Amino acid sequence: MVSDENVDDFPVSLRCWGTRGSIPSPGPATARYGGNTTCLEVRVEGRRLIFDAGSGIRPLGHDLMRDGAVLDTPIFLTHFHWDHIQGFPFFVPLYVPGTELRILGPKQKNIDVRSLFAGQMGPIYFPVPFSAVAANLSFDHLNEGTWEGHGITLQTIRVKHPSYVIGYRIEAGDTAICFIPDNEIDGDSYEVEPDWRDRLVEFVGDADILIHDSMYTEREYPHRPGWGHSTFEQSLRLAEDGGVDRLLFFHHDPERSDDELDEIVNRVRDDAAGRGCSVEMEAAREGVHYAPAEQGELT
Ligand SMILES: [Zn+2]
Ligand SMILES: [Zn+2]
Repeated sequence: MVSDENVDDFPVSLRCWGTRGSIPSPGPATARYGGNTTCLEVRVEGRRLIFDAGSGIRPLGHDLMRDGAVLDTPIFLTHFHWDHIQGFPFFVPLYVPGTELRILGPKQKNIDVRSLFAGQMGPIYFPVPFSAVAANLSFDHLNEGTWEGHGITLQTIRVKHPSYVIGYRIEAGDTAICFIPDNEIDGDSYEVEPDWRDRLVEFVGDADILIHDSMYTEREYPHRPGWGHSTFEQSLRLAEDGGVDRLLFFHHDPERSDDELDEIVNRVRDDAAGRGCSVEMEAAREGVHYAPAEQGELT
């Protein structure tokens, strides 16, 4: 079991600080799986890396401050929809001198990452001026390609979601984690090459953990074409085709209660077991540490 106490015994682990899609959804009905929007922490040999800056980055910021060390980390973004950047102005290390943050994300046509990111801290949207930020910030583009540093190798793939959106494959040692929070696998309103799904299957191939957009049920999806999201079953098919060990359903619908989520995941799991599917699956839970199976017992 990975916990706060022993997390550093695991060479690679991850923790979801926000699992929710679209808008924060706090309240008793979502307390178990969490109401914060997308933010993922990946720990590699004690180093903490951040993916997406939804409202979950706020509690992550407090946790990092408890570490006491001056923060020096990249923040990798999948895209710039609100639910993936809205927590950033409330990320406390931002206001601590000495903090070094490198923000990397996909350039949108001719708009650079700095403008995309700083825009939400303009005076119309946010009271504290961008100039109040004490951290050293740098910005870089990361569209399709690879990136290396901080003990990891990243690969990215453009996915099917409105605007230019990427998914990440994070490799560290023998471990591969794929993080694709927003992706409409079966959507037909995107300009992609005919071999896109084959490339996606290859991209997630043999991953230890796949975190994938599973916002809708099969009943809901026909009413949401082109909204940029997948179903639980579509995510599972991708995981099976790619030979993934463990699938975390992610980007939970803000209207979905914990009990409904349990019911859906149990049904999908039972159906899968009935046809001999070997993928482990569960709904991603806010605050829980996950580690690859071979590193020890899973939470
Ligand atoms: Zn989203
Ligand atoms: Zn989005």
